[in-house]
Amino acid sequence: MDIRAQVSSVFHLDKCIGCHTCSIACKNLWTDRRGNEYMWWNNVETKPGTGYPTKWEDQEKYNGGWERVGTQLRLKQGGKAATIGKIFHNPDLPTMDDYYEPFTYKYADLTNAPAGTDQPTARAVSMVSGKPMKIEAGPNWDDDLSGSTVYAANDPGVIELSAEQQQQLFTIEKMVMFHLPRICNHCSNPACVASCPSGAIYKRGEDGIVLINQDKCRGWRMCVSACPYKKTYYGWSSGKSEKCILCFPRQEAGEAPACFHACVGRIRYLGVLLYDADKIEETAMKADGELAAAQREMILDPFDPQVLAAARKGGMAEQIIKAAQKSPVYKFVKEWGIALPLHPEFRTLPMLFYVPPLLPVLSTEHQGTQKLADDFFTSLEQARLPLMYLAGLFAGGNEEEVKAVYRRLIAVRIQRRAETVGDMAEAEVAKARELAGLDSKTLDAIYRMTSLTRIKERIQVPPMLREQAVEAGMDPEEYKQSMGFGSRKAPKRRW
Ligand code: SF4
Ligand code: SF4
Repeated sequence: MDIRAQVSSVFHLDKCIGCHTCSIACKNLWTDRRGNEYMWWNNVETKPGTGYPTKWEDQEKYNGGWERVGTQLRLKQGGKAATIGKIFHNPDLPTMDDYYEPFTYKYADLTNAPAGTDQPTARAVSMVSGKPMKIEAGPNWDDDLSGSTVYAANDPGVIELSAEQQQQLFTIEKMVMFHLPRICNHCSNPACVASCPSGAIYKRGEDGIVLINQDKCRGWRMCVSACPYKKTYYGWSSGKSEKCILCFPRQEAGEAPACFHACVGRIRYLGVLLYDADKIEETAMKADGELAAAQREMILDPFDPQVLAAARKGGMAEQIIKAAQKSPVYKFVKEWGIALPLHPEFRTLPMLFYVPPLLPVLSTEHQGTQKLADDFFTSLEQARLPLMYLAGLFAGGNEEEVKAVYRRLIAVRIQRRAETVGDMAEAEVAKARELAGLDSKTLDAIYRMTSLTRIKERIQVPPMLREQAVEAGMDPEEYKQSMGFGSRKAPKRRW
């Protein structure tokens, strides 16, 4: 066992209101610079929809992430030879049209216009060319027509659905949408790290944050094409690639990352996970539908004496172990099993997890009042968004994974309804608990964590012990293109 600590997160999608406060908090702090105008380290998408950059999930188009070749993992964009061939022209890169042409408005025209009878207007101007432009795309353009066929029909996940399922989705009275906030997943097997010809990207050994060394980056942009989530970006003014840094300077000062702190819906949770780095390769090699479960398996119980002994033997500080024991992320992912990784089939082992939105029809209008569905669990099958779509997003196509999460979330609601409204039969509540596989106390704990918690419970920033930084044990150059982490030996610490 090679036990590592990872600062991980959970985003609870039922709580996201799509306000974009997170995106603005990040933009103002990190990417409000020339050359970074189009960059949104944190962006919020509307699903079903095409996303930012458009169709980022379609790896036939972008060739991001990993694929299994025989018994080995390989970067989908190709090995060393392919990288050299693409240094001067990389066809897998998103273009400015795939993101959007950044724009501003000629605000001065509002105040400097001569007196007249017409209302002055501020025309849109391109932040690239400075010329007037017609705005035809933005970082969440899909939102204006959310749920409609205009964008949703082009969602790579919707294209996979049967004609019948698509028709169900686009029936006007069943139209549905939800928000999907996205940042870098600070993956355990990051394709960006493995793809960089300059060795500029690295995963901090002590907390798993993935960073780009700006001094070493030579702007080859292989990370941009290799990251299947399109979460590294090229700064056209600096000539370097950049990405979400999980606000490590804020965390080192004990503060939550800006997007977490600013989140209006309080959907974001942060905490340490302990995991077995020896299992990375084996986990990433699993079949698509097994990946979510295998990733859960890789995460270790921070109270298990065996795990603790191995962690201490590897030099892990007591403060980090304590932080892992208080981690809300551990509860969501392992203890309660209600948070899943986004697109695990990309095989980067993302360390940001999502509570999927609970979309089944739980009640309908009946003679002016709300009538509960006769059987909540039957209603699961009548989800407004086909389960297959959600399974494609969060479980490598494994519907059972999503169903298991829904059973637990529905059980929380049933138990709460029984307590607050009092119109649920005890037998119904007991059945819900049994199907969820959780007892009453746990369901109550989920309810409290997802509704009533203060920031100090939602966000457990661990002590960032930079003076005890863990060095990578393997030569990342040697493992390039076949391993993202490149750090599976016993950790060497500086002190
Ligand atoms: S591969 Fe993972 S760690 Fe690297 S930029 Fe993409 S999401 Fe972040
Ligand atoms: S700030 Fe929170 S609620 Fe608002 S869009 Fe971002 S993640 Fe969603």
